[in-house]
Order: sequence, then structure tokens, then C-alpha cells
Amino acid sequence: MRSKQDLADWLDEHQLRFTRISDEIWDNPELQFLEFKASKLQADFLAAEGFRVTWDVGGLSTAFAAEWGTGSPVIAFAGEYDALPGLSQKDQNERDPIQAGAPGHGCGHNLLGTGCLAAAVAFKEWLGSTGQAGTVRYYGCPAEEGGSGKVFMGRAGVFDDLDAIFNWHPWYINSAMKGSLLSVNRYYFRFHGKSAHAAADPHSGRSALDALELMNIGVNYLREHVPDDVRLHYSILNGGLAPNVVPDFAESYYYVRAIEPDTLEDVSQRVIRIAQGAAMMTDTEVEVAYKSGSTRVLSNETLADLQYEVMRGLGGIEFSDEEQAYAAAINERFGDANVKTLINRYGVDPQTAEQALIGDVLPSKDKDFVSPGSSDMGDMSWFAPCSMLQTATWASRAAAHSWGVVATGRTSIGHKGMMYAAKVMALAAAELVTSPAVLERAQAEFRAAVERTPYKCPIPDDVPAPSHEHPLR
Ligand SMILES: [Zn+2]
Ligand SMILES: [Zn+2]
Repeated sequence: MRSKQDLADWLDEHQLRFTRISDEIWDNPELQFLEFKASKLQADFLAAEGFRVTWDVGGLSTAFAAEWGTGSPVIAFAGEYDALPGLSQKDQNERDPIQAGAPGHGCGHNLLGTGCLAAAVAFKEWLGSTGQAGTVRYYGCPAEEGGSGKVFMGRAGVFDDLDAIFNWHPWYINSAMKGSLLSVNRYYFRFHGKSAHAAADPHSGRSALDALELMNIGVNYLREHVPDDVRLHYSILNGGLAPNVVPDFAESYYYVRAIEPDTLEDVSQRVIRIAQGAAMMTDTEVEVAYKSGSTRVLSNETLADLQYEVMRGLGGIEFSDEEQAYAAAINERFGDANVKTLINRYGVDPQTAEQALIGDVLPSKDKDFVSPGSSDMGDMSWFAPCSMLQTATWASRAAAHSWGVVATGRTSIGHKGMMYAAKVMALAAAELVTSPAVLERAQAEFRAAVERTPYKCPIPDDVPAPSHEHPLR
């Protein structure tokens, strides 16, 4: 394998080895921090490929790093493999869970992790056969879905020596990201009151549920007085057990989001003060437990441009008529909200936006574009130049975090998107080795950005990394 074309061909020839891994992860969906099978499967595969594997990265039992090669540049591929609760779904184009209520890969992380793994192995093969210096490192990152695995890993210093970072996300278009995602803080609010007979002795009770409800009302009034980019969401985890008992315990789970970390901090403190006010009103106590958080993405425009050029060189993804028909049936079950998003947000022409699968290469949105979600890739992106790639792996109208995403994650549609992403990332990594000026430009851009806004880990030092015994190691 000498040329970059050889690298792309190598991925085509070895596709089955990688789609088997992603299918096995799809078959065994595991929730955050419990990705025992997925992490073991990937780490064993990389060890057999000659990578040096280190477990317990950042104090997380399902996190590992696998390294091959020596010297610089150190190029990282950041994989994920956690699933979402309640999204169990067969690999068919109508809603039908394999097991009702069980987890499923509704964010496509079976493809995400395996695509990064495939890119890392292909890049290693290319480094080895061309005799180029360089280190390839694959990170198996747990708990992207609300657990902030990468934030704990970054806090432990494991990303400190990286020169560039590649990551991609399954999506419904092909594009390299220049924009950002929102920063987020997640909290549990636990109210403690006094129980009493709700009819006979209410004056003796102090209702934790009253406090929780008053807090929510306060937060809903707060919405009018925060910047437009702020997002506030909550769920009630415990609202008492019986109407005739004044609840002595109630618990809510909050997400607070904003683009900039300082806005996020300000609004988070206001939410906490509302909780304290609600406790004071109801004569209860509130305990505020920080769960996790992540920082907005710092996208590297140089790396995004590089990946866009690689995609243009490869052409888009060719989907067959059969695949289009399969996806069209999924689209029928969803509204046309995504069509408007494609046209208004991504600038897709209306005719293309009607396609059930969109294989075209789309230019990057500009750096001010903020996609209103959050990811712990944000935190990783503050350690080295990073560009998140998106490739088409699901039907154009299917909502993220839905059965529609699970339905293509084990089909040729998901496989094509995954192998395409692997190719783009591996070829872009090879380009950084053969064109050091591009890497230098990416790093200069990165340094200027972190000098303007230094990174601060959102998870306080006293919040321990969630620990679980790994039964398969
Ligand atoms: Zn997700
Ligand atoms: Zn995701």
C-alpha cells in the first residue's frame, strides 16, 4: 500500500471485517458506561492488529486507548459505542422493536465507533507500508449520550499530546463541520421534605414535590430572560409515591445549554438559585448534584476544508434504488420537518432534499453555525485541531434518536456511510503526514483559538469518574 488510492482500496477490500464489528455492536446495544461487549470487541481487534491497548483511560472501565507507531504526528480517532434507552428496533423499515423498552443504536454509535476504528487501522496500514513516521491512536470513548466520557478522559490528561483529532457522526448528509454545538451542564435536583398524612395531618408535612414543581415554574419564567441560544429541559425522576402521603423526597434531572461556557455558567447559577428559592418557599432542603457536562465544539476550518476536498475527490455515496426505496418507507413514517431543515439550515436544493437518501457532498456550514445539540467531542476538540465529519447513514426525514436511525444502522445504507467516513478520515490523516504545511496551518488556527478562549474542564475536580467493574476484561 503506497498511494492514497491504495489506502481507499484497502478499506473496500476489508469492509466486511469492519461491518461485522459494527453489526455485532448493533446486535448488543449497551447503555452509557456499560459498553462491556463493544469495548472488548474493539480493543481485542486492535490488539490483534498490533496496537498497544491501555484500559481504564480517565478512570472509566469501558474506555481504552489503542496506539500504533512512533513519533509525530500523533493522530487520534475518537470512537463511541453507547446506545440509547428504549429504542430497540429490528433492521426493517417499519417500527417494530426487537424487545420493547430495550436499548437501541438510535444515534448510530455502532457505526461511529467502528468507522473511526476502520480509519485508524487503514491509516496504520498506510503508515506501515510507506515507512512514514507517525503515531495513530484510537480512543474507545464511552458514554457520549449524557455521560461525558471524553470529558473525564480529557480531565485525566490523556489527550494532551495529540496533533490532530478525527471523529465523525452518522447523519443524513455528507458534510465536514466548521460550526459548533452547545455547551451543556447536567444536574440532579433532590428535594428533601417531611412526610405526613396528606388529608389528616398536612400541616406537619413539607412537600418535596411542591418544591420541585415551584422550581420548574421558576425556570419556565426564567426562559424569557436568557439569551436566545440558551436551552433548558427537565424530567421528573421522582415525584412521590402516593397522593395520600406528603412526599418527603422528589428529584428532577436538568439540562442547561448555551453556546459559550460563561453564559452557561451564569444561567446554571440562576437555575440553582431558583432551586434554592423553591426550597425556601416550601421549607424543604435542596441538594444539587452535578452529573456531567460538555463544552461547545471548537471546529478546525483547515481540517474541515481538507475533508471536504477529500470527499470531492472521492465523490459522494452511491445509494441503490433498493436502498432508496427502503429509506423512503422510513421517511413515510416521519413528517417533513427535516426537508425544511435540509433546505433552510444546510442549503440543500429542494429537489435533492426530497431524496430518501442524500449521498451528495455538501459544503461545510460556516463557523458561526451552531447545531442545537451537545457532545463531549466538544471537550476533546479543545485539545488539538479537530473536525467532526458527518456522513449519510440514515433516511433523510428520520429524526435523530429515533427508531428510524436504528433501522438503517445494520443495513448496507449504514455500512456505506460508515466506510465512506472511514475513507475520508484516513485519507485526510494521510494528507496531514504528506503535507506538513496543512497540519501546521491547522495547528496555528487551533493555537490562536485557544489563546483567545482557554479551555476549562466543565466537570469539577471533586466529581469522580463513574466506575463500573468490567466483567469481560
Ligand atoms: Zn445522540
Ligand atoms: Zn451521537
